[in-house]
Amino acid sequence: MADNTAHIGPVLLLGPPGAGKGTQARQIVERYGIPQISTGELLREHVARGTELGREAKAIMDRGYLVPDDLMYGIVAGRLHEPDCRRGFVLDGFPRTAAQAGWLDAFLRKEFFENEVRDSTGSYKAGACAPVVIQLAVDYTQLLLRITGRRTCPTDGRVYNIHFQPPKVDELCDVDGTPLITRNDDREEVVRERLSVYQEQTGPVVEYYRGQGQFVTVNADLPIAQVTAEIFGVIDARNECQ
Ligand code: ADP
Ligand code: AMP
Repeated sequence: MADNTAHIGPVLLLGPPGAGKGTQARQIVERYGIPQISTGELLREHVARGTELGREAKAIMDRGYLVPDDLMYGIVAGRLHEPDCRRGFVLDGFPRTAAQAGWLDAFLRKEFFENEVRDSTGSYKAGACAPVVIQLAVDYTQLLLRITGRRTCPTDGRVYNIHFQPPKVDELCDVDGTPLITRNDDREEVVRERLSVYQEQTGPVVEYYRGQGQFVTVNADLPIAQVTAEIFGVIDARNECQ
């Protein structure tokens, strides 16, 4: 475990559905002690609680489309304002459109770092912690296997894969024995839609960050532990926030 008082700053994981963003975000949480903010999870919580936003989002998510930007901003801003985000956070699944990326930049500069990070003279260091942006690149066929093979424990959120990380007993969570579920949007016909939405709407986000200082592409076709090691190397190499 790394130093849990160091300022890590924002870590953004970009990549198509099934690339392993959630899997790697959980490793980052363990090592750096910063929270994972998965917009997909936040939305699924709204769906499970039956909120108005959840009802609106469910119809969109089940078809594989993106929830409108304006709805996302409220959810993300609310979560990033929570005190556990002050040392940094790992965003998994956001930003997903060029507009969201622009919004996030403005949010981090104005509402996050200007309020949280000051230099030795007490002046604000606006944008002092530019995000580390890590793109997880995975082959298309591998993605289909990862998504259609994904199974989740509805009780503790653990994620399995029938091809790559099967549970010890078929379709049951290793920890509490709960029957595993397949996400509604992981059915093959929806998956293809999500992957094409990714190309069209999230492709520009990758271009937005490419060419900026701290953008790195990681080969996420590799086994989980190897991908994790590369990601830790990227995060450890940053020094602006420490
Ligand atoms: P995302 O959050 O990007 O949609 P997940 O982290 O949920 O992706 O991973 C998708 C599926 O692929 C899960 O079933 C997970 O267990 C599996 N998986 C993740 N990373 C790897 C990897 N490097 N090799 C094999 N399977 C993986
Ligand atoms: P995920 O768990 O990241 O695969 O997200 C599941 C679904 O939630 C996506 O297919 C979208 O419908 C919705 N979603 C998650 N994050 C976003 C976002 N940043 N913008 C719009 N929709 C999102």
